[in-house]
Amino acid sequence: MPYKVLIIPGDGIGPEVVDAALYVIKAAAERFGVELEMKMAEAGDVALRKYGVAMPQETLKLADAADIIFKGPIGESAYDVTSLIRMRYTLYANIRPVKNLPGVPALKEIDCVFVRENVEDVYVGAEYRVGGVAIALKIITEEGTRRIARVAKRYAEMRRRKVTVVHKANVLRVVDGLFRDVALEELRELEVDQMYVDAAAMELVRNPARFDVVLTTNQYGDILTDLAAQVAGGIGLAPSGNIGDAKAMFEPVHGAAFDIAGKGIANPIAAILSGAMMFEWIGRKEAADAIRFAVEKSIEKDVKTPDIGGRNTTLEVGKYISSIVSG
Ligand code: ATP
Repeated sequence: MPYKVLIIPGDGIGPEVVDAALYVIKAAAERFGVELEMKMAEAGDVALRKYGVAMPQETLKLADAADIIFKGPIGESAYDVTSLIRMRYTLYANIRPVKNLPGVPALKEIDCVFVRENVEDVYVGAEYRVGGVAIALKIITEEGTRRIARVAKRYAEMRRRKVTVVHKANVLRVVDGLFRDVALEELRELEVDQMYVDAAAMELVRNPARFDVVLTTNQYGDILTDLAAQVAGGIGLAPSGNIGDAKAMFEPVHGAAFDIAGKGIANPIAAILSGAMMFEWIGRKEAADAIRFAVEKSIEKDVKTPDIGGRNTTLEVGKYISSIVSG
């Protein structure tokens, strides 16, 4: 049975990086005999302008039927597309590995995985305006925390068995307090430490090598992973997976980057490495490894985009990496 993959190119640089990544995904699927049934659909600012809704019914229907969604970044309507997909399919674990790539100038050595809770916190969309007062509810549940802590535990067991729980329980004593207490209980068999989110931001710049698995809530994870990506060499290199029990979505960490859209200079590596995570999720590690090897080869051979010191276009990089994957 082929895996049903829905491709959503998205906004800004989305169509460019997704196009480049598709060359690589198709090459890996062909080489390793992975059957993918791919369909394309519109969503985001482009769809909003065209149809008056950011997430058209047709796209939603295709997403419902898909096993995997592979998505580019969404612009102003990100909440109506990205958050909707995460919530609708309970993709509760946002996995964001951050690791230096050989040959890419970086601020520091870093090799960690962020396990970010993905369907709770202030991002549930419970916002209200009462006259001159604006209120947003921060929702953290025991069940949701246990679930995400178990994911962090699995990652830690495959790595250096160390988890840092990041929160702000000294101020948000009830909500972040619950997250901290439940997470620590779930992780008691491992080496665990905890850190306030402000201190974690500082440590990620000062001594990022100290982190192995970072377990945190939705909003802190959103912010810290951009920071960590920059430490590793740039946001154009950072992949992510949104994982649920039955479905998953893979996407680059970066946004629509309208400032460089249409110029052919966006780095497709974040999208390509998100493709590698997709193969890993379906249990085809050999395809994921081949993609990662090819990405490193492209950098070694100086086939790279300007953000990491190269002169190639988005598509040239994608095609080069796909040719290495094909062997
Ligand atoms: P959002 O608000 O959705 O996070 P954004 O466009 O404000 O999106 P990002 O796209 O995450 O922010 O990144 C900020 C800047 O980093 C961009 O304006 C762009 O210059 C650069 N950038 C982001 N992605 C890439 C990429 N793939 N290749 C090269 N540069 C990138």
